[in-house]
Amino acid sequence: MSALRRPLKSLGQNFLVDGNIIDRIIEAAEVRPDQPVLEIGPGRGALTRHLAERAGRLMLIEFDHALAAYHRQQFVDDSTVSVVDGDVLKVDLGTLLAESPARWNVVANLPYNISTEVLFRLYNVHSRLERMTLMLQKEVGDRLIAPPDCSEYGVTTVLLGLWFDISRVIVVRPGSFHPSPKVDSVVLTFTPLAEPRADVGDEALFRMVVKSAFSMRRKTLSNCLKSAEFASAVPSGELLELCGIDGRRRGETLSLAEFALLSRTVTDKLKSAALS
Ligand code: SAM
Repeated sequence: MSALRRPLKSLGQNFLVDGNIIDRIIEAAEVRPDQPVLEIGPGRGALTRHLAERAGRLMLIEFDHALAAYHRQQFVDDSTVSVVDGDVLKVDLGTLLAESPARWNVVANLPYNISTEVLFRLYNVHSRLERMTLMLQKEVGDRLIAPPDCSEYGVTTVLLGLWFDISRVIVVRPGSFHPSPKVDSVVLTFTPLAEPRADVGDEALFRMVVKSAFSMRRKTLSNCLKSAEFASAVPSGELLELCGIDGRRRGETLSLAEFALLSRTVTDKLKSAALS
């Protein structure tokens, strides 16, 4: 492995070198032998070896061709491990996860620069997941567990909060990586719920409502919802009045239940418009 070239900043390559943190992540992941495990970005394999020992099946997705080739070589005699040499933002995760009928346990120390996008992709396949243990930049992790009405509360908090129980395992300092990043990191576990935390009607509309509400953080909810895709069919003022929500509020003050109410109302209005 030392023969491989230096870590690539462009791929967020901050490799874990702290045995205690590696143990904490593996413990938090609660991998069972009957479970398929997906590791995104195995890098130099700090977690991979432990996962391969515990999992019934392990799939690795690595964008660095040299590292993907290294893992192929490492596991050449182990048919339970497969390596996808590709970009997690481009591969069809739904199709890959359909390779196993069982639900997946996802473990990853995510590259900082793409972690929010990866979270959205994992959210889109939530029904295929049994657990996730993810290391994120602390700032991104803090957003996921933020309560309403604080600056960290945002799109990822509301969307992921609909389908997952999220808990913080440990804060990780820069010295636990090589090279050291400039910021702290955090390990979170995500447990999917059997049912969404709230009835949102159409989930695609829920995503639209949430994204529009946070699209201009300094503007009022009423203004933000005016630019939503559904605004011509369900005008912002009418929607807020139907829901009894004050349009002068900002998106970040809304609870998940209030977002769900907005989304259900848009869903119902569009349905009745389609019928008439
Ligand atoms: N898991 C290793 C560890 O903990 O030491 C490496 C973690 S490092 C923070 C992130 C890893 O993700 C690197 O191996 C990097 O090459 C890989 N990576 C970066 N962008 C990626 C992408 N778009 N798709 C898949 N892997 C990616």
